[in-house]
Amino acid sequence: MADWKTRTKLIHEGARRSQYGEMSEAIFLTQGFVYDSAEQAEARFIELGEDEFIYARYGNPTVRIFEERMAALEGTEDAFATASGMAAVNGALTSLVKAGDHVVAARALFGSCLYVLELLGRFGVEVTFVDGTDLDQWRAAVRPDTRAVFLESVSNPTLEVVDIRAVADIAHANGALVIVDNVFATPVFSRAVELGADVVVYSATKHIDGAGRCLGGVVCGSRDYIRKVLEPYLKHTGGALSPFNAWVMLKGMETLDLRVRAQAATAQAVAEALSGHPKLSRVIYPGLKDHPQHDLAMQQMGAGGTVVSLDLAGGKDAAFRFLNALRIVKISNNLGDAKSIATHPATTTHQRLPDDQKARLGITPGLVRLSLGLEDTDDLIGDLLTALQAA
Ligand SMILES: *Cc1c(COP(=O)(O)O)cnc(C)c1O
Repeated sequence: MADWKTRTKLIHEGARRSQYGEMSEAIFLTQGFVYDSAEQAEARFIELGEDEFIYARYGNPTVRIFEERMAALEGTEDAFATASGMAAVNGALTSLVKAGDHVVAARALFGSCLYVLELLGRFGVEVTFVDGTDLDQWRAAVRPDTRAVFLESVSNPTLEVVDIRAVADIAHANGALVIVDNVFATPVFSRAVELGADVVVYSATKHIDGAGRCLGGVVCGSRDYIRKVLEPYLKHTGGALSPFNAWVMLKGMETLDLRVRAQAATAQAVAEALSGHPKLSRVIYPGLKDHPQHDLAMQQMGAGGTVVSLDLAGGKDAAFRFLNALRIVKISNNLGDAKSIATHPATTTHQRLPDDQKARLGITPGLVRLSLGLEDTDDLIGDLLTALQAA
């Protein structure tokens, strides 16, 4: 319902109940559906009506609840769920372009997103990378034959904030579609569609699950884009979300707003507590006043998000000593989890990048990305300060 507020949508939107009237959403763990007659089967293959299904690669009732809930939350007409965040990114881009098309992307991206853009190049799509925070570079790169622009609204792991409205104005003036990977902004703080994004992509693996259980993803957009561009590609290439994982995501959504707001408050407190620490050359957090896009982040999200990046002055050795001294915060590479997680991007998530590219993206040897969880904020600050002593 359009007039419901976020928390109500997160709990009730898209709900469907079987004849048993179950309270918790049912898991329809079925890949196929039985037809009453051959005529009905034929009719469904010609055109699917609302709540009609033929095969779980195309759609499934539990998955449909998740899609409708995400579309309502994001403020788009429709959504399509995918097996992972990367299936969503790949689907959103690949379904749209053909050889000869042009795409402009911010260069500070999650490693696998970079891979997908490089892949498009192998199939004759020209891709131009720009510094996402420099609007002149976007203006210079976007051309009348640009089919799409792609950006992470807050980049991984250096937390650069891209001005969605300004980039959308440049893209739309040239007829290009704006695709935003909004994982770091989270659906709770997202106003991407309001600011001009046409397509918003999430890895549901992160905050939407929120407890590190399942992979999942979703693409939100107009009914025309989702049904005419994306769905034909995804339903035939096999990136479908499992009904079980969709159910886990639905349970995650019930607490998403509460969790993300608590995690962002902790992130803000951690960033403030560590800011200026002698072992750190930088504390990067959009919620801190010294962040280069602080004002933009506040306008665009109203909060700094759930991730803080730290640059250890002593480089890789200091970063490793710090990581190894953490007791509550776990060394891993997920984010948005209830458990706080520390990642060393240069040797893990971004290891594949050549050193000069790492340097250009600010992925220094001392950089540590912290995803703040739901533990007690003082315990976390204590753990981080003790580990900094060891660094
Ligand atoms: C994790 C992540 C993805 C990929 O999601 P998966 O669910 O791991 O496939 C894409 N973009 C960003 C920004 C991410 O953080």
